[in-house]
Amino acid sequence: MQTTMMNVPLSLNHLLERAGRLFKSTEIVSRLPDKSLRRHRYADIYRRTRALGSALQGLGLKKGDRVATLCWNHHAHLESYFGIPAAGGVMHTLNLRLAPEEIGWIAGDAQDRFLIVDDVLLPLYEKFRHLYPFEKVIVFPFSGAPVPAGFTDYEALLVGADADGFTYAPHDENDPVAMCYTSGTTGRSKGVVYSHRSTVLHSLVACLPDFCGVRGTDVVLPVTPMFHANSWGMPYIAVMVGAKLVFPGPHLHPDDLLGLMTQEPPTLALGVPTIWLSLIQTYDASLKPGSPNAGRWRLPQGMRSLVGGAAVPEALIRAFDAHGIWIMQGWGMTETSPVGTLSYLTAALKDASRDEKYRRAATAGVPVPLVELRTRGDDGQDQPWDGQSVGELQVRGPFITGGYHEVGSPADKFTDDGWLRTGDVASVDELGYMRIADRTKDLIKSGGEWISSVDLENALMAHPAVAEAAVIAIPDEKWSERPLACVALKPGEQVTPDELNALLLTKNFAKWQLPERYEFIDAVPRTSTGKFWKLKLRERFPR
Ligand code: ADP
Repeated sequence: MQTTMMNVPLSLNHLLERAGRLFKSTEIVSRLPDKSLRRHRYADIYRRTRALGSALQGLGLKKGDRVATLCWNHHAHLESYFGIPAAGGVMHTLNLRLAPEEIGWIAGDAQDRFLIVDDVLLPLYEKFRHLYPFEKVIVFPFSGAPVPAGFTDYEALLVGADADGFTYAPHDENDPVAMCYTSGTTGRSKGVVYSHRSTVLHSLVACLPDFCGVRGTDVVLPVTPMFHANSWGMPYIAVMVGAKLVFPGPHLHPDDLLGLMTQEPPTLALGVPTIWLSLIQTYDASLKPGSPNAGRWRLPQGMRSLVGGAAVPEALIRAFDAHGIWIMQGWGMTETSPVGTLSYLTAALKDASRDEKYRRAATAGVPVPLVELRTRGDDGQDQPWDGQSVGELQVRGPFITGGYHEVGSPADKFTDDGWLRTGDVASVDELGYMRIADRTKDLIKSGGEWISSVDLENALMAHPAVAEAAVIAIPDEKWSERPLACVALKPGEQVTPDELNALLLTKNFAKWQLPERYEFIDAVPRTSTGKFWKLKLRERFPR
């Protein structure tokens, strides 16, 4: 006898069905390789997604089989996000910015059966095809050119499939829907597997009004790649609420993004700080007298922006706010679906000064509902929430992975009581705002005291001449480690180490925390997900 609520499994299929019925006429815009825009409506995407599910079943896809995607952000990738799980499969997003050998290794580790690949990425596929034999390679004719012989044509596959007669594969809410490998910035990549349940819960939480606040009238521009950490869940969230999506395709240069924002103004855009930095620098330069780009772009008025994946400098938040665009900062990992914390102004800060609001916005924020967070000191004790004490950040929750594909739950990644060890070092203040001091591997230990490279970087990037700054540790006989600041200047700008040190001293850094040395470089190297790649700097400046 049932006496409480129904035990209906949470399911992505429900989100798709809902969008197909309720949001038929809402647009999904994709930028093609030739920069033109292709428009669909949710009604089209619904049909095409079901056709994909039907076609995959026709190809013999079995429950739990992995189907890899090697695609930019566009409508067909969205179809995979829902169509592969609808057929009972697991969508495995391959990161196209990784080295070909790495992609081949990852496909082998995941034992992907099929591959869906953009035609414009076939040259990349050719570089790793010898490493792993997919049973079938389905080519999406993104450029509009005919699909080369020897491959299955995605569009032909959809045309030949029975969208109307399609039936969803039966599933449990804990069955897998998607898989993404950690990008191995600090170690070997491992597969993280998301379920129907974790994905639906993450979508519900991430779009709450206090967090991303996504609603059906939004126009969402996900610059964050769909091939890494689910584009921060935005494809699922947008479909759940029926928001208009604008996909940038392969065009992520600041000029292109500003052009797209001018053409199809988003109300919400998502990206990593490095891309947002170049975006605002390019835009601000276009406003200078005599700029060749004068009047070319408009930043959408009142747009909200979610920026994360790496620390967001306060200077970046202020630079966007000067144009009426508020940046919310998020912290997360591939392992956390990925949104774990979000910086928004809680009621306690309602009457805070503007400076205080900026200061909080520059933290990683407070844990979202359903995520528990703690910081553990070296002694295994929880650190107090005093804004000072740092410890290893550990998290737990229903959309945080409990293990890795084939690897399980190794002790260096999980505590005995089942919390994820993030590898980040953080402090939490009395209001629950978390600040990432560093990744464990990036902290600088000088004379027994920790120096946060993130704090130094953020302060340096507040200098008007500085485009980018990354701080690494160099060995030091006396102090064991000292900070080295690698600084890229804006075009035509000059600044001396003394001037930068003078700035740091005004920002509450002690003398011993100042960089030991400055190296002026052209640009900070980027990881496959567009973050600062300090490993490369450490190789370049070993001392
Ligand atoms: P990778 O960086 O290795 O590609 P992830 O995309 O999973 O892998 O990145 C997760 C890491 O990114 C976190 O552990 C943390 O170090 C960093 N990170 C994410 N968001 C923030 C943030 N808001 N502030 C500082 N660091 C962040």
